[in-house]
Amino acid sequence: MRDINGILFDLDGVLYVGEEVIAGAGDALDYCRSLGLPFRFITNTSTRTSADVARKLIRMGIEVREEEIFSAVSATRDFLLSRGRPSVHLLIRDAVKAEFHQFRQNEERPDYVIVGDIGAAWDYELMNRVFRELLDGADLIAMHMNRFWEGESGLQMDIGAFVAGLEFVSGKQAKVIGKPSAEFFNLAVSALGLPEEQVLVIGDDIENDIGGAQAAGLRGALVRTGKYRKAFTEQSEIVPDVIIDSIADLPALLSSRSASR
Ligand SMILES: [Mg+2]
Repeated sequence: MRDINGILFDLDGVLYVGEEVIAGAGDALDYCRSLGLPFRFITNTSTRTSADVARKLIRMGIEVREEEIFSAVSATRDFLLSRGRPSVHLLIRDAVKAEFHQFRQNEERPDYVIVGDIGAAWDYELMNRVFRELLDGADLIAMHMNRFWEGESGLQMDIGAFVAGLEFVSGKQAKVIGKPSAEFFNLAVSALGLPEEQVLVIGDDIENDIGGAQAAGLRGALVRTGKYRKAFTEQSEIVPDVIIDSIADLPALLSSRSASR
């Protein structure tokens, strides 16, 4: 861990699972603060705005400011703004729709179809409608393509399969905004003001967190909490730079950093 001077924390599965905070999360962040080690949060969560995520963390006793959170939702909005004022078909929860108020909604011939987590609202009719919009020229934007996530009752299917299905039928490739997109990591890295190789990403998703981090030139620490399963790590070609039991082990990991200096 030599030369690690900043940290990007994944949220879901690292700091909390559902409404349960993971033991040691608050202490680990306090420890980073005591070292003067800057950090930010990077999340593919598409069901809440950054402000809502910040409120959730504060409720759990984790001190955080909204501007410290880089979310797939705000990155999607910023991407659309960079494209002018395109029209959109939003497949997202009502809770995040306000983030997209500046875009005209068009559910027949939109410029972009935006896919976030809409839970159980997927059905044939909706998929078929989006399929036709894509054939009519719309581009497909996925807030992320996660395979699954760890809910309070175990692993749950995420939106990746729906995005992959829409890609399959339309022959179009989705633009993925959140992790593992290098652009998304770069946004957070530039906020830290550090070179990529000095930044450690801590996540529970070997593909999106660890693989994405390494592809973007960062290092990745996998935690054995959240969606972590031993078998997924063994099956993956991605090798984390380090594996720790949980975020509670971060202080020990970082103290090896100062000891090795
Ligand atoms: Mg996670």
